[in-house]
Amino acid sequence: MATVLDGKLLAASIEQRLAAVISAGKGRAGRPPGLAVLRVGEDPASGVYVANKEKACARVGIRSFGQHLPAETPYAQLHTIVEQLNADQQVDGILLQLPLPKGLDEGPLLAAINPDKDADGLHTLNLGRLLKGETGPRSCTPAGVMALLATAGVNLEGKRAVVVGRSILVGQPMALMLQAANATVTVAHSRTRDLATLTRQAEVLVAAAGCPRLIGAEHVSKGVVVVDVGIHRLPPDPQKDLKGRLCGDVRFEEVEPFAAVITPVPGGVGPMTVAMLLVNSTVAWCHQHHLGLGTIEDLLV
Ligand code: NAP
Repeated sequence: MATVLDGKLLAASIEQRLAAVISAGKGRAGRPPGLAVLRVGEDPASGVYVANKEKACARVGIRSFGQHLPAETPYAQLHTIVEQLNADQQVDGILLQLPLPKGLDEGPLLAAINPDKDADGLHTLNLGRLLKGETGPRSCTPAGVMALLATAGVNLEGKRAVVVGRSILVGQPMALMLQAANATVTVAHSRTRDLATLTRQAEVLVAAAGCPRLIGAEHVSKGVVVVDVGIHRLPPDPQKDLKGRLCGDVRFEEVEPFAAVITPVPGGVGPMTVAMLLVNSTVAWCHQHHLGLGTIEDLLV
């Protein structure tokens, strides 16, 4: 039986630590940390994600400055808003909720965010800092994966790791973080030939392809550590559920018997992504006000 990593539990304990750091530093800073979430258009999933992030902010004492703009908002106006948030002394973290509506290019807007307020860790400078091993806000999802693995005591030193997916959001920073932890990393993508032969060599397998239930028993070897980053809602089954059940990139029931450690969907990587967003915002606030990071320092991968 595999150890199933509980991302919800770890995220809750990180929130507790953040709440303590914020409560201790608020007096000296003269204000709590602030996170601005910029949402454009009506993507329904984004609505749920933004609401979850705002609730999480409230739980730890981060002030959220939500802005929800219509899909027709011109690029120039969004750029001006980003610049205003960059200059706003109450705001430590800025998050541009993706995807943007068709016709709006996220690239220049992400680049316009002050890198030190880059709550998502996706700014080119911060990806460069990660590449060079310098400190800076880290991409939330892979940072969340690293925190989960570290807390579970998974030793990555010298391990063969395979990351399935090479996106800038997940796959690439994930590979860099695993490499920084001294794993030997291979990155697979949609043109990789014979994926199963490659992934069977993995001692640590991170599935971030965005393909529901791609990874099955044929892709893994006994004793593997499996991290499922994917999140998908399956079509509803009128016999069982009306909303449609959530699943990942991994066929959990097939892979779990082979795995030493595995993350579930939901309740694995997802809650950790939100927790890391809070960490990035709180760390930026601590830096701005010269506060010690205390017990959250060890979360910075
Ligand atoms: P993405 O931008 O669509 O990238 C997917 C990557 O997987 C691409 O590099 C693609 O290769 C590769 N790929 C696609 N099909 C493949 C296949 N059959 N075999 C091997 N590689 C394949 O997706 P993303 O933004 O990285 O997200 C990945 C998944 O994670 C999605 O399900 C997303 O919803 C989920 N996600 C979850 C969280 C969370 O908090 N849990 C956060 C972020 C993302 P090419 O480069 O060749 O196209």
